[in-house]
Amino acid sequence: MVMMESGPDNSPRRITILGSTGSIGCNTLDLIQRDREAYQVEALTANTNVEMLASQAREMNAKFAVVADENKFAALKDALKDTDVEVGAGRSAVIEAASRPAEWVMAAIVGAAGLEPTLTAVRRGAAVGLANKECLVCAGELMLSEVASSGAALLPVDSEHNAIFQVFEFEQRQAIEKIILTASGGPFWKTSLADMAKATPEEAIAHPNWDMGAKISVDSATMMNKGLELIEAHYLFAMPEDRIDVLVHTQSIIHGLVAYIDGSVLAQLGSPDMRTPIAYALGWPNRIPAPSQKLDLASVGTLNFEQPDSERFPAIELARQTLRDGGAAPTILNAANEIAVAAFLQQKIGFLDIARTVETTLSKLSGYSIGALDDVVSIDGEARQIAMESLSACAVVTV
Ligand code: NDP
Repeated sequence: MVMMESGPDNSPRRITILGSTGSIGCNTLDLIQRDREAYQVEALTANTNVEMLASQAREMNAKFAVVADENKFAALKDALKDTDVEVGAGRSAVIEAASRPAEWVMAAIVGAAGLEPTLTAVRRGAAVGLANKECLVCAGELMLSEVASSGAALLPVDSEHNAIFQVFEFEQRQAIEKIILTASGGPFWKTSLADMAKATPEEAIAHPNWDMGAKISVDSATMMNKGLELIEAHYLFAMPEDRIDVLVHTQSIIHGLVAYIDGSVLAQLGSPDMRTPIAYALGWPNRIPAPSQKLDLASVGTLNFEQPDSERFPAIELARQTLRDGGAAPTILNAANEIAVAAFLQQKIGFLDIARTVETTLSKLSGYSIGALDDVVSIDGEARQIAMESLSACAVVTV
């Protein structure tokens, strides 16, 4: 494992942020900005948001700024023309950004689009802060085998996994009974199925506790986010599906728990602010300060917990089933979900159609296994195609 606090010879630690213009990317930069001397920004990447990327690159004196959309190359070059920042565009440039020699890389591209860049950073043995859960969902075994052979450190950033990472006694693995992921329940936890059927994208992305990108916000509303996290936890902590519980905790104060054979349950608590888990991953193996609001349990008063509801939120069970089925099932689930969420955000399908599309796609594709990256890419593509076809069977939403 890479255990580096700074760069070689105590020089500033070199950092790359894949997806720097997103919610996680901005929170990571916020932390870095608070201790400028400690870090050198190697590379920053975005998909299309040239304006924000250029301002981040200028502000942080980044060495390399990359926009994935090739059509934005000229705009990025123009925006940074009076600086020393090298610019790049296109998928290959994003991969090049990941291959540059940063000791620590934040993987914060959303969706399976982040897989290859994240794998690139893993393959050169970097410490990788993993926010992009879809990477592990669609290629978990491949990712873990690359981590094992490169010696990279995979540091969970997802708040639940980060919490479990903090209280999981790896040297006492045989004494761990189960791990428990908490779930906020999202904006529709108290909403009837009939009202969920009419939910708009604006309502779905209005998360009660967290301020996040659109895709993960919709995933939280369907609770597919918890399904994806279940798969992520299975790979990160080598836990079988039936030893990973989900507990609805609408306050989002306890982020994750580990239950031991002696009856002890260890938990990590904190205000719902992603800068805490990001700081843990950024400072690891040490702790660094984060500006998150300090937790005041006396003013919180009581902590509440409920069981998940599989009738209104079928996504968690769909995800569990993919782990039981094995092979490429999680890859298919992830790809179908990405297509369905995008269609919902474009108001082409209704909210409840998201889980239906995933279920239909899973029922049409089975028996595939994953070996190399090419398998992932091909099955992901096939699942996207089938998901697209099944969208037409869904009721088109009229607004
Ligand atoms: P955002 O949508 O806010 O940001 C996504 C980032 O990825 C942006 O920089 C975006 O660029 C870039 N991007 C999008 N598509 C592509 C592409 N095809 N190729 C290259 N870059 C791309 O997402 P979040 O920050 O919310 O989430 C990022 C990841 O972290 C997700 O996997 C999410 O599940 C996970 N996560 C997020 C949490 C949160 O609090 N937000 C919590 C836990 C996990 P541009 O701005 O130009 O579109």
